[in-house]
Amino acid sequence: MPVYKAPVEDVMFLLNDVFPIERYNNLPGFADATPDTVEAILAEGAKLCEEVFAPLNRVGDEEGCVRHPDGTVTTPKGFKAAYEAFTSGGWMGLSAPEEYGGQGLPTTLNSVMQEFLSSANLALGMYPGLTQGAIAALVVHGSDAIKKTYLPKMVEGTWTGTMNLTESHCGTDLGLLKTKAVPNGDGSYAITGTKIFISAGEHHMAENIVHLVLARIEGAPAGTKGISLFVVPKFIVKEDGSPGEHNGVSCGSIEHKMGIHGNATCVMNYDGAKGWLIGQENRGLNAMFVMMNEARLAVGIQGLAQSEVAYQNAVAYAKDRLQGRSLTGAKFPDKPADPIIVHPDVRRTLLSVKAFNEAARALVIWTALKSDVAHRSSDEAERQSADDHMGLLTPVVKGVLTDLGFDNAVRAQQMFGGHGYIEEWGMSQFVRDARITMIYEGANGIQAMDLVGRKLGKDGGRAIMSFFNEVGAFCQENAADESMKPFVAPLQQGLGHLQQATMWFMQNAMAKPDNAGAGATDYMHLFGLVAMGYMWAKMAKAANARKAQGNGVAQKMDAKLLTGRFFMERMMPETATRLAAISTGADATMAMPIEMF
Ligand SMILES: Cc1cc2nc3c(=O)[nH]c(=O)nc-3n(C[C@H](O)[C@H](O)[C@H](O)COP(=O)(O)OP(=O)(O)OC[C@H]3O[C@@H](n4cnc5c(N)ncnc54)[C@H](O)[C@@H]3O)c2cc1C
Repeated sequence: MPVYKAPVEDVMFLLNDVFPIERYNNLPGFADATPDTVEAILAEGAKLCEEVFAPLNRVGDEEGCVRHPDGTVTTPKGFKAAYEAFTSGGWMGLSAPEEYGGQGLPTTLNSVMQEFLSSANLALGMYPGLTQGAIAALVVHGSDAIKKTYLPKMVEGTWTGTMNLTESHCGTDLGLLKTKAVPNGDGSYAITGTKIFISAGEHHMAENIVHLVLARIEGAPAGTKGISLFVVPKFIVKEDGSPGEHNGVSCGSIEHKMGIHGNATCVMNYDGAKGWLIGQENRGLNAMFVMMNEARLAVGIQGLAQSEVAYQNAVAYAKDRLQGRSLTGAKFPDKPADPIIVHPDVRRTLLSVKAFNEAARALVIWTALKSDVAHRSSDEAERQSADDHMGLLTPVVKGVLTDLGFDNAVRAQQMFGGHGYIEEWGMSQFVRDARITMIYEGANGIQAMDLVGRKLGKDGGRAIMSFFNEVGAFCQENAADESMKPFVAPLQQGLGHLQQATMWFMQNAMAKPDNAGAGATDYMHLFGLVAMGYMWAKMAKAANARKAQGNGVAQKMDAKLLTGRFFMERMMPETATRLAAISTGADATMAMPIEMF
């Protein structure tokens, strides 16, 4: 069976040394999050993930979900009990507002837990993940009555949440959406239409399911400007707050799919179901964006999570599997062959995954802390700057961490040779499960377009300029430090490439938008490399400082520095290729007439 150990120690290095969480203790919820408390919470969470969620990963893959003739859906054996262990431990409300029963702790802790849960069992982790996204949308846009009706139960985990955007003819282009909403005259609406691919749409793990549904109110304008958001419960909530009669919503079927078999992906039929408006009429996308942005970060974390668990298994295998001899002579002459970890190509593969994982984790924590500042700070300028960061980094975290998360699951699988391709070792499941993360919550091509088309120019380029200034200032401050040179020089070069690519778009994409479209994915990955390079430079600085303190951590810090050096020497140079591809423009991409494809 695959192994998994939650990387609590690595997270604590990030929260103690790289982005000291104590610096944020002026924010609500952070005073309780002292480093010791955080470590204790994460150790408990790690136990739940390692001992309860991870052993069910294989079960979920093999059994999948079952829809019964009456439309009910059961999840794989053990999922319900594991979900109950999650909710009874108070994990659903870890960062939810205290007024609804949550613990109000930093969102950053929840992001860390999302990584652990998704490594342990991606399919199972999605049920609470979607609920937390729905909670976030209701907190921001729900009326007081809606909040009071739904939030305490959702925060408790007794009720779960879903997001319903997709229809068979409308995925990326939500303007095509047809589901309609007709006022009932009593403040509610009758919702009719069919949604497809709805994660956790129906299951038996919760007492009620709270669907957040995008629909068009009769007479509303066509396109995205006529879409509203509704809360549609599976069971209509009675006056006393308990679930009452079954609403007109049902699961028509569940999808048979490549991975995440333990998550019920449902076709949901709304047949005059009672729904209540969230936020303003025709501003549904705006309200749903709260959930979508949360979900995009969570999906980026899922990419990292699959890369991490696949890596852990690949390392264990590479230390154990004996094949061939080291190029420089036998390293284990007493054995019939050396373990494959001696071979440079195996080490290259493993290090490229490890270097990504640790940088991606830092990027997630940096961004999650910004999310806490954006939502909790009383200082407007601070909030705005954190919000800029979130807007800019969200498509990068989603797109880059999932593209590479999948690539890395494949790389880790490759370490097993033929044994990775058969199901026995579990590597195939990581690859199959990781694949969806590149698709849902906006396919990665769309994330790249969001970054280039919307985020770069927003507010006169304020967010990107602030990113350039921060990374540039770090390089300047550390340029003279001999121990930082291996980090600062490549970072400076990568930053230069990113600035040139940004300038190239400014000069060449306005008049010819195809230039932006053709270069967007390269730009997103170029950005990802620079952001991760910056994370490595910050981690190197912190590791040097820790070594200087001499707390018996030298070996661990050396491992950090060596991994970072690999990133800088072997991965960072890709920024030049990305810039070169972007600067050729769209001609080669667009020249071929459609009939020649
Ligand atoms: C397992 C699973 C779970 C899901 N869970 C949910 C859920 O809980 N709720 C929900 O609402 N949806 C869910 N989805 C739907 C998912 O979000 C969509 O599949 C996704 O947004 C893409 O939409 P689509 O499949 O219609 O592809 P399309 O929109 O048809 O896109 C097809 C391809 O064309 C590209 N493309 C489209 N338009 C453009 C453009 N303008 N520029 C460049 N490229 C473009 C896309 O990047 C993509 O690669 C889920 C899907 C799956 C498979």
